[in-house]
Amino acid sequence: MTLFVRFAPSPTGYLHVGNVRTALVNWLFVRKAGGRFMLRLDDTDTERSRVEFAAAIEEDLRWLGVSWDEFAKQSDRFDSYEAAKAELVAAGRLYPCYETQEELDIRRKLQAGRGLPPIYDRAALKVTDADIARFEKEGRKPHYRFLLEDKPITWHDLVRGEVKFQGAHVSDPVLIREDGVPLYTLASVVDDGEMGITHIIRGEDHVSNTAVQVQIFEALGYDVPVFGHLALLKTKDGELSKRVGGNDIRSLRDEGFEPMAVNSLLAKMGTSDAIEPFADMKALVESFDIAKFGRATAIYDVHDLERLNEKLLAHMPYEAVKPRLEALEFAQVDEAFWNFVRGNLKKLRDIGDWWAIVHGHVKPPAATDREFLDKAAQLLPPEPWSTDTWGQWTNAIKQATGRKGKDLFHPLRLAITGREDGPELKALLGLLGYTNVLTRLKAA
Ligand code: GLU
Repeated sequence: MTLFVRFAPSPTGYLHVGNVRTALVNWLFVRKAGGRFMLRLDDTDTERSRVEFAAAIEEDLRWLGVSWDEFAKQSDRFDSYEAAKAELVAAGRLYPCYETQEELDIRRKLQAGRGLPPIYDRAALKVTDADIARFEKEGRKPHYRFLLEDKPITWHDLVRGEVKFQGAHVSDPVLIREDGVPLYTLASVVDDGEMGITHIIRGEDHVSNTAVQVQIFEALGYDVPVFGHLALLKTKDGELSKRVGGNDIRSLRDEGFEPMAVNSLLAKMGTSDAIEPFADMKALVESFDIAKFGRATAIYDVHDLERLNEKLLAHMPYEAVKPRLEALEFAQVDEAFWNFVRGNLKKLRDIGDWWAIVHGHVKPPAATDREFLDKAAQLLPPEPWSTDTWGQWTNAIKQATGRKGKDLFHPLRLAITGREDGPELKALLGLLGYTNVLTRLKAA
């Protein structure tokens, strides 16, 4: 059997780390096992769906390297949902309901008062033709509920193992809104069924949807796909906002994170694997196994992302980074310079600071420490330099002047770089060389 999976975001906002994790897991799953990946936009909610968000979703996925073999959007498929509706009505599995929201709320409160669970009581099945005629006259429009069968609903979940629900313990879900628009619960099953999706991997927040959708698949005569529900993602402070906040992918891109840092973290969070940087998708695919995903909530921490980003850059070969440097207008960075600085970058664009410090003009700061800088200049070891040079030099200055810590390093940094902060001086020294350092110490 060829696998077929889908990622089905609603274009009502930007992709965030939570839904991209779902996309990525589906993608890795199918790239590992062989099969097809579909990007499907769940845009039946035409009021909240936006073409800008749809375009942004595609752009963000491309940036990450999550490619799709097929594409669909639900707003093109209303005819299929209409046909499914007719089929379910004819089979007696979809029934019209005329209750208003207020009536339902009151009923739920009464149930709560009696200590009963808030399950829909199927009152709509008992209304008479006369009632319906009256409702219609009042201008009411029906919404439609799916009649669940009272039987155990079970599936073997790729992540959670055996999952079991009892039909009677769940409300008959509304599938068609009062204005005739099919809801996600139905549209998704019709798509998955008609398109032949074999595996549905999504967040744990969909477990109860799955319970009812299993019965809808059966009622429409489709094979029930295999399900996997990933544990949710949280930040240290709590729930990850689904729609807003700085956890969206474009913010991360704007902040200068590498796509593979994002992919490495999101693919390994909540698994038994260590979180480490993967240089490319191929390596991530090789290491992927859905069985490695656990049931505990995964904690998303941007510091992990920062750590991965630094590590990725530190090991990035010049050939890989060259086109990126050109795009950032740092084409002048050659291999030697890259190899020298790559271990000191938080973000790729920080390379601009290094370049400016090494090759740019350093405005000599007003020297308040002339005597100290003269001493430092005197003690600067002659070339050739090694990685020990920095330590030897600063030790010698320390001995000669009695200074240490900030008093020692700050004036050196200021004289050499013209800045209050910046890249590690130790690494910088080698890039500048004896003559440059000496000139800058004297110019200050
Ligand atoms: N549009 C749904 C969501 O973003 C899709 C869920 C599913 O994968 O079925 O939550």
